[in-house]
Amino acid sequence: VNAILDGDSPAQWDVIVIGSGSGGEIAAAECAGRGLRVLVVEADRFGGECAYVACVPSKSLLLSAHAGLRWEEAIRRRDQAAHGRDDRATRDTLTDAGVTTVRARGRLLAPEQERHRVLLEPADTDASRREISGPRVETTTFVVLGTGSETSIPPVQGLDGLGYWTSDQALSTTDQPVSMIIMGGGAVGCELAQAFALLGTRVDLIEVADGLLPSESGWVGTLIAEQLEEDAVKLHLGVEVQRVEASENGCRVHLDDGSSISAERLLLAGGRSPRSAGLGLDALDVAPADDGSIPIDGRCGVLAADGSTVGGLYAVGDVTAESSYTHSANYQARIAADDIVKRGHDADYRAVPRVVYTRPTVFCVGGPAEQARERGFDVRTARTDLADVERGQLVALSASPTGRGVVRGKVELVTDPRTGTLVGASCVGPEADSWGAELALAIRAEIPIALLAQHMRAFPTWSEAVTAALDD
Ligand SMILES: Cc1cc2nc3c(=O)[nH]c(=O)nc-3n(C[C@H](O)[C@H](O)[C@H](O)COP(=O)(O)OP(=O)(O)OC[C@H]3O[C@@H](n4cnc5c(N)ncnc54)[C@H](O)[C@@H]3O)c2cc1C
Repeated sequence: VNAILDGDSPAQWDVIVIGSGSGGEIAAAECAGRGLRVLVVEADRFGGECAYVACVPSKSLLLSAHAGLRWEEAIRRRDQAAHGRDDRATRDTLTDAGVTTVRARGRLLAPEQERHRVLLEPADTDASRREISGPRVETTTFVVLGTGSETSIPPVQGLDGLGYWTSDQALSTTDQPVSMIIMGGGAVGCELAQAFALLGTRVDLIEVADGLLPSESGWVGTLIAEQLEEDAVKLHLGVEVQRVEASENGCRVHLDDGSSISAERLLLAGGRSPRSAGLGLDALDVAPADDGSIPIDGRCGVLAADGSTVGGLYAVGDVTAESSYTHSANYQARIAADDIVKRGHDADYRAVPRVVYTRPTVFCVGGPAEQARERGFDVRTARTDLADVERGQLVALSASPTGRGVVRGKVELVTDPRTGTLVGASCVGPEADSWGAELALAIRAEIPIALLAQHMRAFPTWSEAVTAALDD
């Protein structure tokens, strides 16, 4: 790699991918698979966040917590699942796919002679991991930006210098905190609250909205709140953090209702910000939105400030406003790669699954009913309680020591009566991420409600709750 990059005659690339997370990795492999010469520039770990400090370790920790494992064993398995945060295997996979890789920071320069130019600078990792000795410029026909996102740091007095955690530290630590305050009751906050609480940490969870998972239907957050309280998480809903300070055992958080709580650790989980700063976007007259996201068109082509598409420049994954999941980053990467090889088609975001891997699991797709109504749509809803279907009754009877178990879960379908199709679905229950998936396909394929209702579902599966809601 160094021979190519530091040599006298720089290679001419067809595609340079900046950032090798879920989106960048797929975009690179797809383009190389179609015979293009691809260079991936990665400032930190090949593979990005998902495998090492996000999806994979968080799901591993949750599964271990649900299985009743102790902290040490859960951490051992988490690190095994996350490959010890070692990116060699991912890098080898890219190389095997015909992609050239270099650890460096990439930045766009103004194009010259109709070719994009990317400045490569040594990555600010430790010296042993640096792979280029100084800055150099590479030219290319296409650039794909897949630089991801990072934890948003709220403007709270006292945070600077406090030594707070983000999910990166929470999912890399080997020392179990005795107590932890989590700021943010979205997917990341709820998942980490449940995992740490079940593994024995005393957890306080603060959410400024009146309920958890505030972007979903209110009943979804209520069910998860009931479960988290049962798991010994102390919830503080509808309150805002005013200031934080160091305390004897860690930190103290002051809330706007006048109360305060303290814990060994403070974990920020109040959202993520697209990583677009320092990418040189202004050189191409691209202005990120206020939240930092890079504006894109239907084919993931980056939009300039005047609304026109910048030729040959794409963005995929969390750095766009359209995606905050690994599966949506992967989807966008294929959209961009297809467009690069002139087989372009627009992305369709109507059926992006939103999953929270707590127990019970949350699987939502399409618009929640409240949001659809706020936008003026006359939608109808139907809801089934999982306790009312045969599987729920069987589990309550046979899977609990007393024979009187509680099954916590519901399905809500949202339909548009004008089209007779599904426009949204929320499923909460055991493994809802699996049995809810048919509803994402139903939305995307616009399957008529009548046909969905006639469809045969196996007895006694959780998906019979879908049939019951459809009958309604
Ligand atoms: C705790 C947690 C749990 C999650 N769980 C799930 C889940 O279960 N399912 C799911 O679908 N999603 C989950 N997500 C979201 C998911 O991790 C992200 O949506 C996904 O990783 C985004 O991929 P990406 O390719 O956009 O960026 P990333 O994976 O963030 O990769 C971006 C890469 O770009 C590199 N980079 C940045 N700037 C530069 C530069 N200038 N030059 C070179 N390289 C650069 C970075 O080093 C990084 O490696 C979770 C997120 C968190 C935080």
